[in-house]
Amino acid sequence: MEHQQFRQVVVERGSESSPIFRNLRRALAHVPFTTVDMIESSSGAGTLRNSGFGATKKTLYLARHKGDFLKKCPGSEGQVCCNYFVLNFASNCPMDCSYCYLQEYLADNSALKVFSNVADLIDETDRTLARHRGVFFRIGTGEITDSLALEPYTGMVGELIPYFAEQANVLLELKTKSDRVESLLDLNPKGRVVVAWSMNPQRVIELDEHGTASLGARLAAARRCQEAGYRLGFHFDPMIEYPGWESDYQSMLEETFATIDWRALSWLSLGVLRQTPGLKRVMRERFPRSELLTGEQVLCPDGKMRYFQPLRVEMYRKMVRWIRRAAPTVKIYLCMESREVWEQVFGFAPACEKDLGNQMAPGVH
Ligand code: SF4
Repeated sequence: MEHQQFRQVVVERGSESSPIFRNLRRALAHVPFTTVDMIESSSGAGTLRNSGFGATKKTLYLARHKGDFLKKCPGSEGQVCCNYFVLNFASNCPMDCSYCYLQEYLADNSALKVFSNVADLIDETDRTLARHRGVFFRIGTGEITDSLALEPYTGMVGELIPYFAEQANVLLELKTKSDRVESLLDLNPKGRVVVAWSMNPQRVIELDEHGTASLGARLAAARRCQEAGYRLGFHFDPMIEYPGWESDYQSMLEETFATIDWRALSWLSLGVLRQTPGLKRVMRERFPRSELLTGEQVLCPDGKMRYFQPLRVEMYRKMVRWIRRAAPTVKIYLCMESREVWEQVFGFAPACEKDLGNQMAPGVH
């Protein structure tokens, strides 16, 4: 995976005392730093929309986050939810997948931003965990950014792991398409951190996951994390249907289970490509040659377009069968799917979101 070519770092005044500022200074010594009073009033942020979503990824902003850091995953209407929380330590992503929903979700606020007030983030998480000691939390940081793509510069995850390692009622999930695990390897996660990769065959990575690590590099990084004592996760999501998808996905699974020990896995998830009509419009502008624009999809009640239901069920059933051959008891769940699809794939649907959340965290209560 290539290292990011940032053109500048813009720092909001007051963020200079943050450990993240210190880390950025060290890692990006060759890049110009500018200080502004407020990010919103800086020359770059106001023109971001016009300068294009891709161009925004060349400037890195460091600013205080003024709202809540921790939020319940919004899920998707009518779909089975897995009771997941998201912790936002950054916004937007330096990589550039053609199907990335952030192109629509962050269209009016697309600055690539890292939040400097890590102590506030930890305080807020601590208060929430302490208020609900009887609840087991799964918290992920990969909702509106990639959890590790910026890690060599920000050192953010290295700041967070020592805190999460000491908590009794949480698993922190770091979800990534990068191989940037270096800063994790000397830390002791004490069973509280899952490093999870979004996975696709190399063909899909080359065509639609621009700037991400290759399949081989993701697996090598997963292996290093496993050896360093981390739990692992894989998200086969978004699964793409194309002529020959079966053999590509089967080979990817074989390579995965030949590289890592499936007993180190906390969970696997499956999900098919989801696009809103709005996202498709952006994709047509930014990635007009992407094959993902041509497949047949139907509009679902949550406003997202997916493959026709019988095709989704067939894809999930095949994946479950191939996974079970290598990892007979690993936990598998479906991301943003209806109860009907769950029942057709597994013969059951979780009773409620708490039920599914608890299934993901056995033995750690
Ligand atoms: S890695 Fe994730 S967040 Fe980053 S561009 Fe791809 S889909 Fe978007």
